[in-house]
Amino acid sequence: MTAKIIDGNEIAKRVRAEWKHRVDALQARGVQPGLAVVIVGDNPASQVYVRHKTKACADMGIHSEKHEFPADAPEQKVLDTIARLNANPAIHGILVQLPLPAHFESRRLLEAIAVEKDVDGFNLYNVGALVAGDTVFPPCTPFGVQCMLEYSNIPISGQNVVVVGASNIVGKPMAMMLMKKDATVCITHIKTRDLAQFTILADILVVAVGKPNVITAPMVKTGAVVIDVGINRLPDGRLVGDVDFEAVREKASYITPVPGGVGPMTVTMLLVNTIQSAERFAAIQMPAASKVAAAAG
Ligand code: NAD
Repeated sequence: MTAKIIDGNEIAKRVRAEWKHRVDALQARGVQPGLAVVIVGDNPASQVYVRHKTKACADMGIHSEKHEFPADAPEQKVLDTIARLNANPAIHGILVQLPLPAHFESRRLLEAIAVEKDVDGFNLYNVGALVAGDTVFPPCTPFGVQCMLEYSNIPISGQNVVVVGASNIVGKPMAMMLMKKDATVCITHIKTRDLAQFTILADILVVAVGKPNVITAPMVKTGAVVIDVGINRLPDGRLVGDVDFEAVREKASYITPVPGGVGPMTVTMLLVNTIQSAERFAAIQMPAASKVAAAAG
């Protein structure tokens, strides 16, 4: 068996085309979705991610602005900027690019973002809402994975899902989201003994660890769907995921490549969350009479 490749670039393009119509509809009503990115320090990877997000916004007709601070900036200065963005009606989404310099308390900054603008979904209210099955903004990377499964018509309900990696930004929310879709979910991490005894049971295996070749072919059930979230730079400069792609693709039914898999979906879902936030804002702003007119027409 050779797996079908789930092409993240292709699915991202389709999702963006669908959501571009919604941006146009908002603009016709005088609302332009707006995203603010707060970045502290000069982490080169973060700079690249922020450039991608800015470009993706421009392509979609979303206003974006970058608020940049040096690594030694006082935390209060960043908090003041977040407070101003919370109050700015032209901004519908705010994200703090992680990681932050060591002297910053990430949690404090994430908590400062207004829940209704927390498009990364990292605020504790959003985390709790996800656990309760009623999230405001699903975190972008697991949301992207869910979207890839749905666009590929891969059933989730009743499937055995194993998530490898239990971080707050990928593994844990991924497990919650697929449980909400009625999968039976097992979550594994660095202390899991004999990882293979779990992975071999997976109909859908989601891997988010950050180590090349954590998943090899003998660890994968024949016909499994394998989603590789990992991004690793090898000494020779190549970018690879966490899965031994060439060997596992001969055993899986579907597999995501790295690059060109989950990566493009993460940015796409950030756009989706920002547009959805602007739609909620527009619904609040729209006077009752025009709401009735919109419902009628
Ligand atoms: P993290 O370091 O916060 O968490 C890694 C998790 O993997 C931890 O729960 C740890 O317990 C677990 N782990 C470590 N070694 C393990 C092992 N040998 N076996 C089983 N579990 C193990 O990382 P993260 O932020 O969740 O990111 C994971 C990977 O996903 C990274 O490569 C990151 O670059 C990538 N990532 C990609 C995207 C994307 O858009 N494609 C988005 C976010 C993260």
